Amino acid sequence: MSRFLQITEVPDAVATVLRIAPDPVPEEILSEHAPGRVLCVDVIAREDIPGFDRSVVDGFAVRFEDTTGATDSAPALLQCTGRVQMGVEERRLTVGPGTCVYIPTGGVLPAGADAVVMMEQTDTAGDTVLVKRPVAHGENVLMHDEDYRRGAVILPAGRRISPQDAGVLAACGRTSVTVAKQPVVGIISTGNELVPVTATPGPGQVRDANASMLAAYLHEYGCIPRLYGIVRDEHGSFEAALSKALPECDVVLLSGGSSKDDRDMTAGAIAGRGEVLVHGITIAPGKPTIIGRIGKKPVFGLPGHPASAYVVLLVIVRPLLSHMLGEKRSSLRTTRATLGESLPSQKGREEYVRVRLEGGIAHPLFGKSGLLNTLVQSDGLVRIPAGLEGLEQGSTVDVILW
Ligand code: AMP
Ligand code: MG
Repeated sequence: MSRFLQITEVPDAVATVLRIAPDPVPEEILSEHAPGRVLCVDVIAREDIPGFDRSVVDGFAVRFEDTTGATDSAPALLQCTGRVQMGVEERRLTVGPGTCVYIPTGGVLPAGADAVVMMEQTDTAGDTVLVKRPVAHGENVLMHDEDYRRGAVILPAGRRISPQDAGVLAACGRTSVTVAKQPVVGIISTGNELVPVTATPGPGQVRDANASMLAAYLHEYGCIPRLYGIVRDEHGSFEAALSKALPECDVVLLSGGSSKDDRDMTAGAIAGRGEVLVHGITIAPGKPTIIGRIGKKPVFGLPGHPASAYVVLLVIVRPLLSHMLGEKRSSLRTTRATLGESLPSQKGREEYVRVRLEGGIAHPLFGKSGLLNTLVQSDGLVRIPAGLEGLEQGSTVDVILW
């Protein structure tokens, strides 16, 4: 058991995780199901978007030279020769010198015109339009390839599809996209003291909070959580749960039982079928964390304390999932804040302190690691790097937002 006493630094633990991380598996899905999924392949424009020169205002399509020098007192006088209808290209209408054509927002710019004068900058008298402001070449016109040119990358591989992206996919006529398969992540809660959420805990018992918390996070992150219930701290129970979970999942998370106490079964259970690569990380909270592998499948032992499990999920497990999803850019959101109180920290240990944000100030929430309330009251975490003995009040920090 001596190798379990060796403690791994956070960057090395993350490197280990990335070394065993399976590559993304592509699958084609309907674009309507794409939001939240991560693209595996660039989405390329198959045509120019919008595809035609289009007015962005209600007004008159003109030749810009015809408006040069126009003012309220000396307007340019143009003859209106017709109206553009929405949704059709008016081939009969052309704009020649001294003429203009009425055009609504979104209408196709008629041949000969190179700009649009806003309605508000004109007066009309019969068929004569008085233009009171000059327009520049291309003013108030969206060019046919101004949004996307045919062949351009609309959305790059590695991008998580946002609601805006869904709009772009629709505008470009992309009904399907190739995304990374959602990793299936098994969750096994361990501990003789645990009872299901539906039970009333007896003395010494607690409800299984971790499974729900981990599942919610995984779901939100774009994975498929699969729950395997609570197992007792007995070798046979661990074996049975792992036997069931491994064939059905890409990754397995066990929470609890990850320390090096004799009653902690996780390391033994992983070592019995595969290998324990890391046991113990210089992170607080979350030191008793296990990174292992059974066959090609990553298996984690997370600490039982919900707050510790959550931090380890964010800092250690998330990079694995990010790799499996093919994310190019970390989607961890951070914000700058000023630290409201000094934070002491043990050198050599990467610490994550829960903070509440208020008007740009990050207030640390101190509390015992078994407490759930600080997890809920906080907005995120401040990281104290391993090399520092703490952070001073008033220093600028990046808060990792939940
Ligand atoms: P362990 O990591 O198994 O030593 O557990 C550490 C602490 O976390 C103990 O107080 C456990 O009761 C608690 N704990 C373990 N698993 C869970 C869970 N799934 N939900 C809530 N608390 C848990
Ligand atoms: Mg336990």
